[in-house]
Amino acid sequence: MTLVRGCIGSLVAHQPLGKDVIAHAVDAATRDPRFNPVTAAEYPLLNIEVSVLGGGSQRQLPSRPAMEKKPLNHFHPGSSVLSFGTAGCNSGCRFCQNFDIAKARSIDKLSVGASPEKIAQIAASRGIDSVAFTYNDPIVFAEYAIDTAQACRALGIHPIAVTAGYMSAEARPDFYAAMDAANIDLKGFTEDFYWKVTGTHLADVLATIDYAVNEARTPEGEHVWVELTTLLIPGLNDDDAQLHAECTWIGEHLGPDVPLHFSAFHPSYRMMDVPPTPHETLTRTRAIALAEGLHYVYAGNVHDREGDTTYCPNPQCHAKLIERDWYRIIADRLSASSGGNGHCPQCGTAIAGRW
Ligand code: SF4
Repeated sequence: MTLVRGCIGSLVAHQPLGKDVIAHAVDAATRDPRFNPVTAAEYPLLNIEVSVLGGGSQRQLPSRPAMEKKPLNHFHPGSSVLSFGTAGCNSGCRFCQNFDIAKARSIDKLSVGASPEKIAQIAASRGIDSVAFTYNDPIVFAEYAIDTAQACRALGIHPIAVTAGYMSAEARPDFYAAMDAANIDLKGFTEDFYWKVTGTHLADVLATIDYAVNEARTPEGEHVWVELTTLLIPGLNDDDAQLHAECTWIGEHLGPDVPLHFSAFHPSYRMMDVPPTPHETLTRTRAIALAEGLHYVYAGNVHDREGDTTYCPNPQCHAKLIERDWYRIIADRLSASSGGNGHCPQCGTAIAGRW
C-alpha cells in the first residue's frame, strides 16, 4: 500500500459536509502538486482518511509536546512547547522526515495567517513555556520567526529554533540573537554526504554551529543554549571514522558540554529503500562519542533508558540526574521545577544547561 498525504486547504462549506469532504479528498489525490496524480482507474483502490485542522489555525498549530521532543534535554526539562512551521525548506534532504511540509509549494493553501503577537498570545493563554520554530527550517521564514520570537520574549516565553544550520554568515547574528535555545542538525561529517544526501554543504553548517555555540548572544548578553542532533542513516553516515571525526570536532571546537543526540532513522521520502537504524548502531555511536570525551550523549527515537538518561559527567560520580524513557521523564534531580539547582546532588558538579 502506498500512503499519499495530500492537502487541499481550508474547507468553506458550499454543500453538505460529506460531499465537500469527498470533493476535497479527490482534489488532494489528483491536484496536490507534490505527488503524481492518482488516476481514475485507481480510485476504487483508495482508502481515504481525512484529518481536520481547527478553524483559524496556523499550519501545525497547536501542538504541545515536551521539550525532550525537539530534542532539547538540557533546557527546562519536561516544560511545554508550542511548535509550528510553515512550508518549504532550503535543504533537500533525501530522507526528510517532514517532507509533506518541507517540500510543500502551496503555502497559500496550507496555512492561514497568524501574526507573531497572536502566536505569542496563544502560547501565553495556555501557559506554554516555549515556542519552537520547527518542522521545516525556520531560516526560510527568518523574519517571521524573529518577529515571533520577540513577541514571545515580551510575554516571558522562550523562543527555540530547530534547524539544519544551513544559512549565510550575514543571517546568523539576527537569527540567533532572537533565540533562547536551538537544536541544530549535524547530519553527517563528510562533504560528500552533505552534498549528495542533503544538497547543502558541511562547512556552512559547521560555521553556523560554531557561531551559535561560541558567539551568539541574546540581547541580555546570555549564551544561546545549543544541542546537536545527528540522524544515523545505515551505510551513509554511521561509520566509525566519520563519527570519530565528528565527535573530535565537537570536542575541539565546542567543548564537551554541548549535548549530542544520535537519532534513529526511519525510511522516508526518497529513502524508502534504506532500512531503519538498528538499535546497536545507536549504542555503538554513543560509546564512540563518550570515549571521545563528550559529556552528554543521547540515543533518540528509541526506547533506551541508558541512552536517554542524563548522567553526572564527573567520572568519580556518574550519578543518574534525569532518567528518561524516550521522551518521558521518570526522575529529575536537576531541574528547579523538581527541586534541583542544576548541580549534581551527589557530588555538586555544575551541569551545563538551563535548569
Ligand atoms: S532540513 Fe529538515 S525539513 Fe529541510 S529537507 Fe532536511 S530534513 Fe527536511
